[in-house]
Amino acid sequence: VTAAASSDLYDTDALPNPEVITRLNAMFALPLDRLKVIVKQIISDMKTGLERDGGAIKMLPTFVTKRPSGRERGSYLAIDFGGTNLRVCELVLNGHAGEPQLLQSKFQISENVKTGSGSALFDFIAECVRSFFQTHHALDAHDWNSKRWQLGFTFSFPVDQISIKAEIENFDEKESANLSTDTSFIQGTLITWTKGFTATNVIDRDSIRLLEDAFERMNLNIEVTALVNDTTGTLISHAYQNPDTYAGVILGTGSNCAYVEKFSNITKFRGPPPPLGTTEMLINMEWGGFDDAQVVIPRTKYDLLLDRNTPTPGSYTFEQLISGMYIGEIVRLVVLDLARTGDLFAKATIVVRSPLHKQYGFETSYMSRIERDHSFDLADVKALLEGDEFEIVGTTLADRKIIKAVCEMIGLRSARLAAAGVCAVVTKMNKLNGCTIGIDGSLFEKYPHYPNRMRDAMREILGISSENILLEQAKDGSGQGAGLIAALAAEAAVGIQ
Ligand code: BGC
Ligand code: MG
Repeated sequence: VTAAASSDLYDTDALPNPEVITRLNAMFALPLDRLKVIVKQIISDMKTGLERDGGAIKMLPTFVTKRPSGRERGSYLAIDFGGTNLRVCELVLNGHAGEPQLLQSKFQISENVKTGSGSALFDFIAECVRSFFQTHHALDAHDWNSKRWQLGFTFSFPVDQISIKAEIENFDEKESANLSTDTSFIQGTLITWTKGFTATNVIDRDSIRLLEDAFERMNLNIEVTALVNDTTGTLISHAYQNPDTYAGVILGTGSNCAYVEKFSNITKFRGPPPPLGTTEMLINMEWGGFDDAQVVIPRTKYDLLLDRNTPTPGSYTFEQLISGMYIGEIVRLVVLDLARTGDLFAKATIVVRSPLHKQYGFETSYMSRIERDHSFDLADVKALLEGDEFEIVGTTLADRKIIKAVCEMIGLRSARLAAAGVCAVVTKMNKLNGCTIGIDGSLFEKYPHYPNRMRDAMREILGISSENILLEQAKDGSGQGAGLIAALAAEAAVGIQ
């Protein structure tokens, strides 16, 4: 019996057409034996990904080879880019761990920025940094640009990294003579866009170059000294508070994980050798690409339809089953289909302009709201459906129960797949005896029952040892983490260990 089937929501007797729920549940459920196959396959793909490029799980070396000591000092800028919002942060580290001082500004990333030209996208980022300075440093407007700032750039996409600045010390002298400026040491090229971004002329180009060029166009005196994935940032910033942190997970607009790997296991590693004595390096897994061949996880016709309507069909299909950008859309596709067959809204009217008819019109936050309604007549679900959000009038309680059950099935599947990922990572690291996982993102933070659904699935998969694995809410990993990694890079560059 799966967790979904045992829920009291499936009080199907009260429904005129209980077989609808039974049928959908059979499509979306992930029984334990399936979860175990998934975990095994993730571990096996992780190993392959460490040996060679081109696998389903990319396993990208991050060049981050140590975790913060807590003694980092200085003032660093950070940009967090790659989801719904962009944030610019300034992080002041005063030499002892604890809540670092943080100033920040937040900006919405428009559809135009996501899908326009690459140079417009990077100009937008530089514009946000300028606006940050105007907000937080307006009084010393002359001052802020006289100093050369160091910046950690969290660019939350699959990036093939050459190095972070820290490698400068260890780079072969002969080779370094060929490189004109310090910045040439750090490079990273975007492998593919995800999460609906399609901006042109960014893939295969050096992301840092593109950003620094935009800074120059805007006369900002900033050097990018670290290129960071949000998962890596989350791991590092959580480890700053809790040294037992061995993985960073994002469950937000997208989904992914970074973890601590033995350096000797990364046999595909090329590029400048890491500092002498390096034993570990963080790996950005890019687990969103797991099972893109679609052989291990059962897919529903709704999952396939969603994928077909993305800019890159067949890519990051694991992420589509899990993350906040997509799971509301899956609910929408199911609801539309049930409306078509007459299993939903037989007595209701839906205005033509209802977001129910618009791709991505059913936001994942609505799933949270629906699952949070425990009233006997699902009054808040009714309010949501009837309100400006959807303009669907005349729903029956049976309609609303079905919709809530659909949200629960799809939310539960997401949590169980995320749990399978975490179980694979912990097993691969040999950390079943205990470690902490820092998790950031709106699903983990705001979706009702999400953390506990993950824990339940982990207990099913790992048994009692799942209790040694602490899933903790990470706070602002991307912002703080990028600042911290810039600080680590600066330490390495001046030879502090
Ligand atoms: C990206 C990852 C990122 C994740 C979470 C995915 O789409 O490929 O690099 O970590 O989203 O933001
Ligand atoms: Mg984020």
